[in-house]
Amino acid sequence: MILDGKKVRDEILAKIKAKIAKEKLDIKLAIILVGDDEASKIYIKNKEKYCDMVGIAVEKYKLSSETEEKEIINLIDKLNNDESVTGIILQSPVPEGIDFNKCSNLIKPEKDVDGFTKNNIYYLYLGKKTVLPCTVKGIIKLLEYYKIPISGANVVIVGRGNIVGHPLSLAFENMDATVTLAHSKTQNLAEITKNADILISATGVKHLITKDMVKYGSTVIDVGVTRVDGKIYGDVDFENIKDIARYITPNPGGVGPMTVAMIIDNLVEMEERKNG
Ligand code: NAP
Repeated sequence: MILDGKKVRDEILAKIKAKIAKEKLDIKLAIILVGDDEASKIYIKNKEKYCDMVGIAVEKYKLSSETEEKEIINLIDKLNNDESVTGIILQSPVPEGIDFNKCSNLIKPEKDVDGFTKNNIYYLYLGKKTVLPCTVKGIIKLLEYYKIPISGANVVIVGRGNIVGHPLSLAFENMDATVTLAHSKTQNLAEITKNADILISATGVKHLITKDMVKYGSTVIDVGVTRVDGKIYGDVDFENIKDIARYITPNPGGVGPMTVAMIIDNLVEMEERKNG
């Protein structure tokens, strides 16, 4: 069965749109873009599109690549203290000479839409309530939508990056899964992945996961994105695995749409917490 990220995204956004209208929620996202990174502009447009769709206001702060760190720090401070701002995103990457981690860590945890500031990651480490990083939350919501049990499952995650693999391993541990985190130095990867009830690959290595690495009847989630000649490939050899796995994400069309939906979901959660 295909885990249809687009369908689930659309359902989640439709529910959120109705909720925002019914409860008259006044949600505002502030996005800070420093410099002229073209990919960032596309990501921001996408975020704006979905915010607009559900009735969330977006305030964009476009700063030139010559902007000094102090100016960004002052802006974050102003937005942190602005009651009308629900969430803040400092778009990565920032120009050379600006310390992204230093600046983004100044965003208040309760306004940290991406869930990557040190406080929120620490809460995740402690197993406390936190703002989950959007891809991590999107994967969990997708599994929950299709009623795939996480508690007690043998979960293998390939890739220990800070954006996906590492925080995902913590989130699954917190949900009582038994987690193995594999990476480029892992020996006998296929022996490990073949034991997975849920196999998640987040490496960016095209078709790393082949059919001999997958357990019959398992769930396979493909996070990786590799672009070759304008075409997108995932980490998973979908065509040869779709009949072995019981559940599998397409790529594109699986985790990607869920990630965007979770930005919106996090903003609604933050607004609700703000209002007690
Ligand atoms: P990252 O920080 O570059 O991490 C990649 C990980 O893959 C590393 O842990 C690396 O191992 C591991 N790896 C590389 N080659 C491997 C191999 N041959 N066998 C096993 N492990 C291998 O990447 P990231 O930021 O976490 O992102 C991972 C992928 O997800 C990327 O393709 C990214 O574009 C994609 N992504 C997709 C979404 C979405 O919404 N769909 C969101 C975020 C990211 P080492 O640690 O040993 O180097």
